[in-house]
Amino acid sequence: MTRLLLIGTPGAGKGTQAQRLSETFDIPAISTGDIFRLNVKNETELGTQAKAFMDRGEYVPDSLTNELVRDRLSHADATDGFLLDGYPRTADQVQELDDILAEKNQQLDAVVMLSADVDEVVRRLLNRAIEQGRADDTEDVIRHRLDVYEAQTAPLISVYAARGLVITVDGLGEVADVTGRIVDALAERGISKN
Ligand code: ADP
Repeated sequence: MTRLLLIGTPGAGKGTQAQRLSETFDIPAISTGDIFRLNVKNETELGTQAKAFMDRGEYVPDSLTNELVRDRLSHADATDGFLLDGYPRTADQVQELDDILAEKNQQLDAVVMLSADVDEVVRRLLNRAIEQGRADDTEDVIRHRLDVYEAQTAPLISVYAARGLVITVDGLGEVADVTGRIVDALAERGISKN
């Protein structure tokens, strides 16, 4: 039963690492960004509400995001562990996750903080814009997303660090090397697939 959070700036490679860690630990990777994008694509009510925020590089309001995660974590596949990618991103979301876990008598094992320098992440995101055509990958919106991350999400790292949960891993380099670093850092803390 492994319960992990993955935090890092846009473009740090969270999504890629989340998929790999999901396989390694045999836990579902739950990406709020992916869930929102799927809802936008399917033109659901949630997607319609989220789209305007996403296109501007703003966070979707906590009320919507929290409800989505609360629902997702109630699914059977998340009972025995999960990896949250891109949640929580605000102090309110940290509180909500604390509440959800307390209600289930569950605890987080670690918060993996994937670091990457700004020039590299902007380069990656501009590249992704060409490859995937994501609406929020234009240069202005990318810069805004990085600012929002610094203002709202970066401060959360010290909240989790105060709980002794944070593992910082360099997100630069080959994908497999980064995964290896994360797995090794977790193993050092006694967190491995059982
Ligand atoms: P990135 O980390 O590269 O910005 P994501 O796919 O994680 O990409 O998120 C894309 C967008 O989805 C965010 O800019 C935001 O609008 C929305 N989003 C994702 N997760 C959250 C969250 N926890 N709280 C609020 N908005 C979110």
